[in-house]
Amino acid sequence: MSTIRFQALTELLSRVPTAVQLPSNKVTDYYGDLVFNTDSMRKYLSKEAFKAVMNANQNGGAIDRKMASGVAAGMKAWAIENRVTHYTHWFQPLTDGTAEKHDGFIDYGDGGHMIENFSGDLLTQQEPDASSFPSGGIRQTFEARGYTAWDVSSPAFIVGTTLCIPTIFISYTGEALDYKTPLLKALAAVDEAAVGVCQYFDKNVTKVHTNLGWEQEYFLIDEALYQARPDLVLTGRTLMGHSSSKDQQLDDHYFGSIPERVTNFMMELEMECHKLGIPVKTRHNEVAPSQFELAPIYEEANLANDHNQLLMDVMKKVARHHKFRVLFHEKPFAGINGSGKHNNWSLGTDTGVVLLAPGKNPKANIQFLCFVVNTLMAVFKNQDLLRASILTASNSHRLGANEAPPSIISVFLGDEVSKMLDRIVEEVGERKMTPDEKTALKLGIGRIPEIILDNTDRNRTSPFAFTGNRFEFRAVGSSSNNAAAITALNAAVAVQLNEFKAAVDFLIEEGIKKDEAIFQVMKKMIIESKPIRFNGDGYSNGWLEEAAKRGLTNVTSVPESISKYLGPEAKKALIGGGVMSEKELVARVEVEMEKFTKKIQIEARVLGDLAINHIVPVAVAYQTKLIQNVQGLRDIFDNSEFEEMAGARKDLIRQISNHISAIKAMVIEMVKARKECNLIEDVTESAYAYDKNVCHYLDEIRYHIDKLELVVDNEMWPLPKYRELLFNN
Ligand code: ADP
Ligand code: MG
Repeated sequence: MSTIRFQALTELLSRVPTAVQLPSNKVTDYYGDLVFNTDSMRKYLSKEAFKAVMNANQNGGAIDRKMASGVAAGMKAWAIENRVTHYTHWFQPLTDGTAEKHDGFIDYGDGGHMIENFSGDLLTQQEPDASSFPSGGIRQTFEARGYTAWDVSSPAFIVGTTLCIPTIFISYTGEALDYKTPLLKALAAVDEAAVGVCQYFDKNVTKVHTNLGWEQEYFLIDEALYQARPDLVLTGRTLMGHSSSKDQQLDDHYFGSIPERVTNFMMELEMECHKLGIPVKTRHNEVAPSQFELAPIYEEANLANDHNQLLMDVMKKVARHHKFRVLFHEKPFAGINGSGKHNNWSLGTDTGVVLLAPGKNPKANIQFLCFVVNTLMAVFKNQDLLRASILTASNSHRLGANEAPPSIISVFLGDEVSKMLDRIVEEVGERKMTPDEKTALKLGIGRIPEIILDNTDRNRTSPFAFTGNRFEFRAVGSSSNNAAAITALNAAVAVQLNEFKAAVDFLIEEGIKKDEAIFQVMKKMIIESKPIRFNGDGYSNGWLEEAAKRGLTNVTSVPESISKYLGPEAKKALIGGGVMSEKELVARVEVEMEKFTKKIQIEARVLGDLAINHIVPVAVAYQTKLIQNVQGLRDIFDNSEFEEMAGARKDLIRQISNHISAIKAMVIEMVKARKECNLIEDVTESAYAYDKNVCHYLDEIRYHIDKLELVVDNEMWPLPKYRELLFNN
């Protein structure tokens, strides 16, 4: 057998689960130990500094220089007590993952001796050399400076011996170069707009925050097998591999008992998360073999997203302790389920109300319906923007495949909420409603909570589903930064809420009572947004036709989808909503286009290399064996007996020959196509060209390789097969 594959499989057999010792049986004994949270701040900060941070945290205010140095001193003391030697600004550039550059606390003191130094200035702002981060042309390399600036709303934490300070990352001229900056702006935009609407119902509401509960799906693959698959190492997915005879058809993995080695990994992961204040709560096997999920209790969206970014990092580290590699790619294996990152999204007020949960009385429920209808309308108008925020090179393999929502954005509301909306359309007239009519409608609305709680119907095929007290944006990809999706969604909802309020206020000024004005505007929106509502099976072919009839957009090309960021509705939401400037948006589109191009470029290179250097030589070697065998038969047997025997073998030799020729020819064509694309200077044009002229080779070449895998001697096959990668826990 090929040595690498053989060694990997041998190594696998020697695996012993690594036991994990928790510091205590009570998670609360160590929860948040590595976070500079309210408790540690109380202990290490002066009263004034503490107040300043809390105030900045809750009201978004700034912290002045003097106060910042007080906070830095307290943070340093806390960190050093926790064996920390370095600090870093921790930020989220437009690459995959987070960035950090560690600096030691040590410095020269006034007398030239060594001290531990961490000033307010170092806490609040830094100028990392930013020239190597993607910026979409905003920042030329000669102007390499970018700023990172402290995000007071997300607490500092410790990883290893480093104090990490969550920051935003902006160019020297003030443009956002990261995911966090627009997210914070979009969260603020919804806050302002939603408070305005809440005021119709409760004057005490002064703040609306966004909640996010992400569900992270992932694959765990044995380290030795992973290393023997260059495609997994370099692209995060298998570019070839025939499906295993058994994969997920028996549904025996989902919610099955978790293998011991995996449980140990999960235990250590959860312990690390809990120390970091990430409230992970749920773990289970997912549908595909070797696929799992982890979910926390939801939190304020900015913090929740920082936690998800941090989690992905921690997962990679902990996986290695257990000789696993974690795959975040949306579709690491063809033919079986891919991984998503459901974004459970809702809005909550400072009076403790979840605005997407039905309330206890008609008034609360009208408010609830207002927010549902506005979300519906926002999604309807911004299908293209929402898709642009989640459709990437890797997620494109998952969307529209057999398990994931298609590239059509629709909303599942469930029967009860749907009926309620239809009822508003029926019962709210153009003319003034009579008091009786109003009472009847309100009574009906008042009954929503009981009905919904009894009927928490679920639709797993919808990209955007109402699930009782929140919407679940399911189309988000497992490897992505949630901020892109939440920024788009919040920007869209904020602009929509403002329009709603303007329309209601207009009617009120015309002399229409508030309640009725709200109903009338809602009615219009319910009618207009009707096409986006779909409670049926999103995976069915019928839906593709139906959606087209309804005029919903369906974009499967990634570059085309990205370019919709520059469409009129998207601009209205993002630029109009104050979330991005035109320059930032254009730059972001450029970065996304480039990311797409580079990913396809890498995949094409890796596939070409593997095809020519790994697969073809093995196929030729096996074919040679067959040829020798046939020649031997001819020597031994007389003609008629030989012809009878050799027929099937000759066919096989021919088959292998055809596959080899096809692979060789297509690799040459693919390289040529790639080179032509690389000559195109405009990044958008180049991305379109890659999509059109290169992508298809990935599937076509793979087809022939997978056919060869079926016929070539198993002993000679160089790469671990799907059954080996997926069934070994
Ligand atoms: P399921 O797989 O059934 O959808 P999970 O329990 O795996 O549910 O995950 C649901 C996620 O939704 C959790 O992170 C949970 O905290 C979160 N969640 C629950 N209620 C809300 C809400 N009102 N707003 C936002 N997220 C919520
Ligand atoms: Mg869910």
